[in-house]
Amino acid sequence: MSVELPEARILAEQMMVALPGRRVKRVELRDCEKLQRMGFVNRNPEDFSMLVGRTVEAVLSRGNTVRVTLDGGVNLLLAPEYGGLVLFHRDEGEAAARWHLMVGFDGGGALTVRLTSMGLVLAARDGDLTGSYMYRRDFLGGLSPLEDGFTLERFTKLVSGVNRGLKQVLVGKDAVLVGLSNSAFMDVIYRAGLHPRRRASSLCPRETGRLFEAVMNLVGERMSLGGKDEWVDLYGKRGGYAPRMGPNLLGRACPVCGSGVERIQHGGGAVYLCPVCQV
Ligand SMILES: [Zn+2]
Repeated sequence: MSVELPEARILAEQMMVALPGRRVKRVELRDCEKLQRMGFVNRNPEDFSMLVGRTVEAVLSRGNTVRVTLDGGVNLLLAPEYGGLVLFHRDEGEAAARWHLMVGFDGGGALTVRLTSMGLVLAARDGDLTGSYMYRRDFLGGLSPLEDGFTLERFTKLVSGVNRGLKQVLVGKDAVLVGLSNSAFMDVIYRAGLHPRRRASSLCPRETGRLFEAVMNLVGERMSLGGKDEWVDLYGKRGGYAPRMGPNLLGRACPVCGSGVERIQHGGGAVYLCPVCQV
């Protein structure tokens, strides 16, 4: 249920409608000790009290991270990157039973956040944002496929001649792009007809063009279909996008050529691929 760039942007857009102008009445954490030890949630739970009494000003996203800005220079960063639920409830009483963070607003609305895997729930002052790896990676790093600067020319400049595997180039802290995790990576290279073990330096201009198109199309389709089909939005509505390549294809035939889909270990995780279409 990973939350990548399309889902983070959908959440941010929905939150931008629901939250600005709302004043935080209270903040509660629940069952967070393990997440705090792992650095996914502020180690000091008292940090969240900085949000209380503050009013939401704006909500934006970049990469996989959503940034809620409140008056007085405080922020709530949310990145349920490898799985999680961010829900808005018009009435606090309707809030789901299981959450790690609950932000209650004056007037009765509430935001709940639950991480089901690696991710981030961080309260931080403006000056402390750069202390967060996720903030640095997503807001200060890479090119975003949702911004005007994402052009074939720019993308080509960034990837051509880079002697690193495609996964390192597209995913993670050293990626040239922000917002793609393993799930989008599998889908993108399948669409582009590229094998996961290819190095960026081995791509010919036509292949680089196919990769660029694949990123654009994947992000566009996932946003227009309301996100991935295993993800739910701010109001609990399930997305409509089924990955073209991924664990959902295991044991099935490639829809393009009919070959059996394979699974390999690559770049620190499982990668599904079509051994015929991806070369
Ligand atoms: Zn195939």
